[in-house]
Amino acid sequence: MDHDIDSGAQARAARRDLAVRAAVEQGLLGPDAAVLGLLDVTGIRESAAALRAAFEAVLPAGTPVLHAFAVKATPLVPVLRLLHEAGIGAEVASPGELALARAAGVPAGRTVLDAPAKTPAELREALDLGIALNADNPQELERLDALVGSTAPRSPLGLRVNPQIGGGTIGATSTATATSKFGVALRDEGARAWVVRAYAERPWLTRLHAHTGSQGIPLSLLVQGVAEAYGLAEEINERAGRRQVDTVDIGGGLPVNFASEETTPSYAQYARLLAAEVPGLFDGRYGLVTEFGRSLLAKHGTVVARVEYAKSAGGRRIAVTHAGVQVATRTVYAPGAWPLRIAAYDAEGRPKPGPDVVQDVAGPACFSGDLLAEGRALPLLEQGDYAAALDTGAYYFAHHYAYNSLVRPGIYGFAPDAGGGTAFATVRRPQTVAEVVAESGGAQASALTTLRAPGSR
Ligand SMILES: *Cc1c(COP(=O)(O)O)cnc(C)c1O
Repeated sequence: MDHDIDSGAQARAARRDLAVRAAVEQGLLGPDAAVLGLLDVTGIRESAAALRAAFEAVLPAGTPVLHAFAVKATPLVPVLRLLHEAGIGAEVASPGELALARAAGVPAGRTVLDAPAKTPAELREALDLGIALNADNPQELERLDALVGSTAPRSPLGLRVNPQIGGGTIGATSTATATSKFGVALRDEGARAWVVRAYAERPWLTRLHAHTGSQGIPLSLLVQGVAEAYGLAEEINERAGRRQVDTVDIGGGLPVNFASEETTPSYAQYARLLAAEVPGLFDGRYGLVTEFGRSLLAKHGTVVARVEYAKSAGGRRIAVTHAGVQVATRTVYAPGAWPLRIAAYDAEGRPKPGPDVVQDVAGPACFSGDLLAEGRALPLLEQGDYAAALDTGAYYFAHHYAYNSLVRPGIYGFAPDAGGGTAFATVRRPQTVAEVVAESGGAQASALTTLRAPGSR
């Protein structure tokens, strides 16, 4: 076993407990603030440092590496700024995500654009800004041909390929199946030869991109995807007779352990495995881009929700909380694929002692499947207690779903203060009901009643 896996797991849990307690004491949580998201600034910094150290340890000094955080995992400007300060860039996949990265101060040279459906205007903007981008398919490459013209583009440009190595345990997040919608399907008839030719015809294509991992993908498959991309880069360069592909973008997708506090696998494990299995990619001839999302942020976020009522029905114990489908959409709709750990806190925000009782933790939405956890053994949650959904820093509270017009909860970053307490900073203030009305056509209340059928008067 590795000893560097996660010496910080205990410390992280302790920081979280202190933060929940402090959030109650400071009134961020209470009867009128019944749900929020918490982000552990210390933990985010530690993960960013661990990622950089992991790759530095297996690459010759001076090898160019850009770690670009997949913005979709936690699309919050202060988080992107924190990561930028910690040496992590941004991977964006829409005009909104690009705008967030720019608002955070991430420079063009540390940004990568990967969207599967880029419009001509988006491509032009990226090229104007000098942002690296990976074309998804032959049609997009044709658009780039027209935009690039005869001058060498400022943007590093690449092509996304799908090595078609197979999927993992979760279909919706498997990117490298034979029929995935992403990239050029490398094993389809004639595709590989087409890719090699496409590079030969375009000296400005200098990068190669494959993002084959995600939650539910075993490490061996992730490594295989990177190995396939490396093999293709070598073939392209051999055919070109020069180092045309100078950078391989290996994507993100390191799975997260949602079952316990430990961070497994670690970045160090993954980097060592990659260097051992694909040594040619780590001998300094290639620059690297990575695009980790979930693995950088998941462990550092917590949804905390007040137990409004505790009830029992037909022998089933149910804690009705304020966190459900609006903040844990994937878990509620696909509980088998996305189970979350739940921690119980008392009304003062202290960890609740046992004994464990099997119970359901329900959300506030009006459908019976709105459950954060089903049949879970936990200290009995009672009215006024708090239930915390752990490991929710990526793809959870930052991905609000507007069911039942529930407001987006506030998100607060926390860090130890000088006096041994916990200090908070607002990352995103809670949405107001007035904002929900405005977003829901409030200014167009009579739009439909005043609309007349053609020809009527
Ligand atoms: C979503 C995505 C990522 C990040 O995936 P994680 O599983 O969150 O690490 C990286 N690259 C691309 C192209 C993506 O679509």
